[in-house]
Amino acid sequence: MGEFDLIARYFTRPAARAALGVGDDCALLQPAPSTQMAISSDMLVEGRHFFADVDPVTLGHKALAVNLSDLAACGAKPLAFTLALSLPRVDEAWLAAFSKGLFALADAHGCELVGGDTTQGPLNICITVFGEVPVVGGKSQALLRSGAKPGDDVYVSGTLGDARLALEALRGKLALPPGLLAQARSRLEQPTPRVALGQALRGIASAAIDLSDGLQGDLQHILRASGVGASIDTSVAINLIASSADNTWAAATISSEQQLECVLAGGDDYELAFTAPASAREAVQAAARQAHTAVSRIGVIEAAPGLRLLDAAGKPLERRYVSFDHFA
Ligand code: ADP
Ligand code: MG
Repeated sequence: MGEFDLIARYFTRPAARAALGVGDDCALLQPAPSTQMAISSDMLVEGRHFFADVDPVTLGHKALAVNLSDLAACGAKPLAFTLALSLPRVDEAWLAAFSKGLFALADAHGCELVGGDTTQGPLNICITVFGEVPVVGGKSQALLRSGAKPGDDVYVSGTLGDARLALEALRGKLALPPGLLAQARSRLEQPTPRVALGQALRGIASAAIDLSDGLQGDLQHILRASGVGASIDTSVAINLIASSADNTWAAATISSEQQLECVLAGGDDYELAFTAPASAREAVQAAARQAHTAVSRIGVIEAAPGLRLLDAAGKPLERRYVSFDHFA
């Protein structure tokens, strides 16, 4: 099977929303009136972002999910995406499974594949997503990292830390009971981008980011962009690890230190962290209900720069947790 047959067979479907999809030199998108286009790219490299033997259905899902998560963080509605794929060889079973996982998530969000590039080389998947955000009265409704103000509440969606827990288990660093491993592993391999929540938070959240590298590090991007600091109540945050609610939790093997490390420094959660004024608490909960996504209030924005991790008594933790950095 050659390059063009491969594209036709696995990555070409009739365009529904795009003015022109796969097949010409460019795809054409028609932005709706009074909207801006939100654009983001994420690359997944074998050995770095996923194990070589990962199920290709989940890989197709994750490759798009991490990109949709960026649209969610901006409050954008997904429209379309492109797929640049480097493959060591043509493996039809792999391609069928990968495209199945990819299109299942794409269809769930009405986001269509409109183009891409296909080359031979080490397995590498790069997706660019296009979404739209309304412009109201000349003002973009996009959620940015830069709008947090002292006094704002700090929230996160869903649960945190289970992806990291799965990663540690798959690397053989700790043992999890099978039920817990399956649950944590699905968080690692099939994250749920919070697309509906991001859109519901437009006009409510003052700043937002999606959590790909770990809460502690990613939250600091909001703090720096907004020129503020924050305090986080780690006694609340520790409960965000979903596995801890499981009564098969192996408390003996996974200490509360390790749980907190997963929550604060574990990457791959693809939840949203966001801030909103205290006056918007009801609006935040209404947005969460509308999006069928739980949100938890874990801290407060302060004028003094830096991130302070506090215990239940409000005392600073001594231990530091470090988020992921590809070049650190
Ligand atoms: P060009 O050489 O003009 O860049 P290509 O020959 O690479 O075009 O691609 C032919 C068509 O197939 C283009 O419309 C391109 O967007 C699309 N395409 C290539 N690879 C993929 C892919 N992996 N997924 C979706 N569309 C693809
Ligand atoms: Mg061309």
